[in-house]
Amino acid sequence: MKALRRLTVRAAYPPELAQLGQIVANLRWSWHAESLDLLEAVDPELWQSCEHDPGRMLGEVTAERFGQLARDRKFLRRLEDIGDDLAEYLEQPRWYQNEQEAGADLPDSIAYFSPEFGITEVLPQYSGGLGILAGDHLKAASDLGVPIIGVGLLYGAGYFRQSLSRDGWQLEQYPSLDPQGLPITALHDAAGAPARVAIALPESRTLHAQIWVAQVGRVPLLLLDSNIEENDADARQVTDRLYGGGAEHRLEQELLLGVGGVRAIRAYCAVTGTAPPEVFHTNEGHAGFLGIERIRELVDDPGGAGLDFDEALQAVRAGTVFTTHTPVPAGIDRFSRDLVAAHLAGMAPLPPERILELGAEEDPGIFNMAHMGLRLGQRANGVSLLHGEVSRGMFNALWPGFDTEDVPITSVTNGVHAPTWMSRDILEIAEREVGPDAVEEGGGWAALDKVGDDELWRVRNVLRGRLVGEIRRRMRASGRQRGMSDAELSWTATAFDPDVLTIGFARRVPSYKRLTLMLRDPERLRALLLDPQRPVQIVIAGKSHPADDGGKQLIAQMVRFADDPAVRHRITFLPDYDIGMARYLYWGVDVWLNNPLRPLEACGTSGMKAALNGALNLSILDGWWDEWFDGENGWAIPSADGLVDADRRDDLEADALYDLIQTSVAPRFYDRSGSRAGDAPTRWVQMVRHTLKSLGPKVLASRMVAEYVRRLYAPAAVSSRRMRADGYAAAKQLAVWRAGVVSAWPAVAVLHVDSQLSGEGDAQLGETLTLRAEVALGGLATDDVTVEAVYGSVDAEDRLTETTAAALRVLEQIDGTTRYEGEIPLDRTGGFGYTVRVLPHSELLATPAELGVVASA
Ligand SMILES: *Cc1c(COP(=O)(O)O)cnc(C)c1O
Repeated sequence: MKALRRLTVRAAYPPELAQLGQIVANLRWSWHAESLDLLEAVDPELWQSCEHDPGRMLGEVTAERFGQLARDRKFLRRLEDIGDDLAEYLEQPRWYQNEQEAGADLPDSIAYFSPEFGITEVLPQYSGGLGILAGDHLKAASDLGVPIIGVGLLYGAGYFRQSLSRDGWQLEQYPSLDPQGLPITALHDAAGAPARVAIALPESRTLHAQIWVAQVGRVPLLLLDSNIEENDADARQVTDRLYGGGAEHRLEQELLLGVGGVRAIRAYCAVTGTAPPEVFHTNEGHAGFLGIERIRELVDDPGGAGLDFDEALQAVRAGTVFTTHTPVPAGIDRFSRDLVAAHLAGMAPLPPERILELGAEEDPGIFNMAHMGLRLGQRANGVSLLHGEVSRGMFNALWPGFDTEDVPITSVTNGVHAPTWMSRDILEIAEREVGPDAVEEGGGWAALDKVGDDELWRVRNVLRGRLVGEIRRRMRASGRQRGMSDAELSWTATAFDPDVLTIGFARRVPSYKRLTLMLRDPERLRALLLDPQRPVQIVIAGKSHPADDGGKQLIAQMVRFADDPAVRHRITFLPDYDIGMARYLYWGVDVWLNNPLRPLEACGTSGMKAALNGALNLSILDGWWDEWFDGENGWAIPSADGLVDADRRDDLEADALYDLIQTSVAPRFYDRSGSRAGDAPTRWVQMVRHTLKSLGPKVLASRMVAEYVRRLYAPAAVSSRRMRADGYAAAKQLAVWRAGVVSAWPAVAVLHVDSQLSGEGDAQLGETLTLRAEVALGGLATDDVTVEAVYGSVDAEDRLTETTAAALRVLEQIDGTTRYEGEIPLDRTGGFGYTVRVLPHSELLATPAELGVVASA
């Protein structure tokens, strides 16, 4: 019989254990080693059987056990200590407060929107990298004291749980998560009723949602849940699962996230007295409607500043940061324009055409969420240097007239939250040598030079051994689940070997990540696995999107290869990749493999987590690895990008991969010749130490969040305040100015340029060139523009490279033309070139490219 309704009954603690409730109510326990130890000590067996879910465990602890603990002086002392530590963590000034103390002008509050958040496996609200990154962003923000409010959706079934059929086909289960059993609490309004938001849907329907709060250290994460009684049956399903359903379902999720999310923030700030966000950060395009809702708030405000759409747009853009995460056009959300148009009723009185314009792209029938994100955000970034470059090319059309390198999309390279992803063993070494704040401040990692080879190698062996135990346990569980008997599975007891070079490969399974590249030449792979002197073993995991049969084929191919009795002790596909499994992999593998089709991996973060545990990366030079591979911290698989024949490209890159493993990776791992005591492979351990030292401080999410604060949030807050001041005077002024500049621009032109050398004869290094330009300003004032010389080296096609810009000064104005003059230094030998261009200029712009207009000679 199926239950009509379910509820979870929470435990009542004896008063002596009240602090246990506080510790569990804050997800900081999930990355705080001492809290985890304490929770385990409550009931070690239950802790295991409840899969490290403290809420579930505490619900099952017997009254007798609670009674014992309430009398256990040692336990009570630890409890008090950890409770105090949490209180201090939540209240004491941290990096952000110290920056403010030192005079930095930082936002009072920042909202961070994401369709998924991966905080812990106990709150399964993520599918992959985007969500894990969002979780790490909140955790690092908490550690640094950054006043962020996270906003997302609460999916009734999360993503899905993966298992395998007998023949290796991915099966999906959607467990129904009971919010009462999750580590979240309902937000209540001032009257004590559950706080709700409502959004108008087509056909006079309304979508209601309840607001839940997950407390992530100092950071609240608001999660919207449409599964409530006020809703009709369809509306209840809006938050049923992550990335499920068709276009309309998806659009309704995104309206709820963006529009409902802003309303949830208003409700949260009202109840808690939190400062309203000055900056809104949207993690990928899905939450883009948040900008529309903020425009609506400003326009539809009878007692307010009386802004029109354009003025409100300027005010909103100034305080919005947009991060793009995909270089794959198919990864961008695109809806039919008609579908979006039908869903804008709740945005009245905003004119629907104006909203639709914001999502316009090449195809007039399409509404593009990334384009809206870029138009609604004055500041935008990609997530690695390479991805920034690729994004500037991909979105160049939004800034016509500008070269790719001038497209105003910068990059902040992703990072990972060390306390979540580092093994205890390595973290202890880092904290001992680098200092307790190592992972927050990112300095001093060179001190790892003091750690001996033997100690590092011993830890690596312990971690590999732990992983092998976990692999065996999971192989058995998966085998049983696939219908195999214990007798059939007895071989798993000795599968994998704690002394064999272990390679890990785990990630989602979209085609560009090439799960099966290693199967390109199965004989070669078999030979590597079974090499009598230098064998390798490979552990593989990953979920395919439920609608992607191509991805499921790849998984089935992998499973069938690994099922072969000849190799199954050396290679395995483990189902149900999640945070809980990922940690064992990052801790225990020697080598982390990544072979995407360059440049389609925006950043990639799994390799960073592995590196923080001393694993060496073996990867295509894509995403973060393109930026930080230094020749000593791992291996770069040569990529054949540019090659049009995809099959041939796969062949070449797979060959390069096999060669590297065979001739470089395995020999180095098994070379014990240089070792004195023990049997540490000296050169391998050197690479491990170098990886920790060089990548440790760079790959941290705390480095990433601090960069967002300094380079994007702080400037956005300054712009946003400026827009708001004096009844939005600057927003009004900017809207009028922009319209004037854009309409005058067709008449703006560089009419004539001449130049004069400072010396006699041919141009020589060290001389200067005086430029004079005649410019038509189309009725604009000289203050409205910058006229600049752009100079640098020229290539064979006369293209300028490595350019510098120098503003020219006004000489005189005669009959509608303005004459400018300036000097440029001949500061390099060889091909040198220059041009002159006119750009809009205003103090209120973040970059001169912002309006997308330029006039060049
Ligand atoms: C880090 C992580 C990811 C993302 O890894 P990529 O390298 O970006 O593919 C996905 N899933 C889990 C569980 C992770 O921990």
